[in-house]
Amino acid sequence: MSVIIAFSMDEALRALAAHPDALILSGGTDLLVEINEGHRRLGSSSADIATSPTVLAVDRLSELRSWTIDLERSQVHIGAGVTWSELVSEPLAGLIPALAEASRTVGSPQIRNAGTLGGNLGTCSPAGDGLPVLAALEAVVHLRSATHQRDLPVAEFMVGVKRTARLPGELITGVTLPIINGWQGYSKVGVRNAMVIATASTALVADRTKRQIRVALGSVGPTVLRCSEAETMLSAAVDWENGGVGSDQLREFGGLVAAASRPIDDHRSSAAYRRHSVGVMAQRLARRAFPLESGPPGQGKSSGI
Ligand SMILES: Cc1cc2nc3c(=O)[nH]c(=O)nc-3n(C[C@H](O)[C@H](O)[C@H](O)COP(=O)(O)OP(=O)(O)OC[C@H]3O[C@@H](n4cnc5c(N)ncnc54)[C@H](O)[C@@H]3O)c2cc1C
Repeated sequence: MSVIIAFSMDEALRALAAHPDALILSGGTDLLVEINEGHRRLGSSSADIATSPTVLAVDRLSELRSWTIDLERSQVHIGAGVTWSELVSEPLAGLIPALAEASRTVGSPQIRNAGTLGGNLGTCSPAGDGLPVLAALEAVVHLRSATHQRDLPVAEFMVGVKRTARLPGELITGVTLPIINGWQGYSKVGVRNAMVIATASTALVADRTKRQIRVALGSVGPTVLRCSEAETMLSAAVDWENGGVGSDQLREFGGLVAAASRPIDDHRSSAAYRRHSVGVMAQRLARRAFPLESGPPGQGKSSGI
């Protein structure tokens, strides 16, 4: 096994051009687990060296470790090497609160100090906590190689269970997220309260400027799912001026979100529990976004969620 430690973007891209299938190492909190569990083979003897993949460490690249705020365009650019701990700190947490909420649920302090948003994208687990938030915010993923640069909507980047649209030789350099005028939040259920991979998760964005609700679900499909029918229904049902929504509408919304999920039974949960969970989480998030009960007097005063 050979390890290349890149100290500049140029070095990293040159190394990737020479070794397009190099294992890119950022915080290592996913990659090293995969290696330890034997899902990735590095080779342990001199005979393996010719066939084992090169490891490219990118954790020292300042371009990946930084973020910028563009208030004129109302957007934030986050480098792929920005850690969860940085995402929960101001000013990023205030600008993208749903991402901060998701980041706080990731692993332990040690994992949040090492693990990165780019690594979450690189692994592209359906349970990745950053991914539903990126999907609901309609983030753009930036990719770069020695020969080209391209931007992909995150929905096109995530193509399946731990499968992305990243090509050999490409590095994820970061994501661009809009700073929205409105409420955004993230919710997750798991088998315990901390240090837990999501059994099901939901991100909701209420974009007041576009008068649009956007919902994305994690752990209930091969990759993160959007819920277009539920989004259209709730966008039309809420009182955007006063911040209200009726309980009946919320229940209908929760039902549509649950119907949009495609969960499976596995060692973490049954499909039925997952489907139920995303419906409940979506209703709770929507109630946080629109706290007032609205609708005809006398109807649905208690949300019962
Ligand atoms: C104990 C523990 C608890 C965890 N808890 C959670 C949790 O609650 N929620 C959650 O979502 N995840 C969790 N994880 C998984 C992991 O911490 C996250 O997915 C993290 O964001 C991965 O980031 P990393 O920098 O460590 O990635 P790495 O392990 O370095 O890389 C992950 C993958 O992405 C690729 N990659 C990394 N950077 C780039 C890049 N710039 N360009 C292209 N490809 C790249 C790598 O090649 C690899 O395939 C946990 C892991 C552990 C060990």
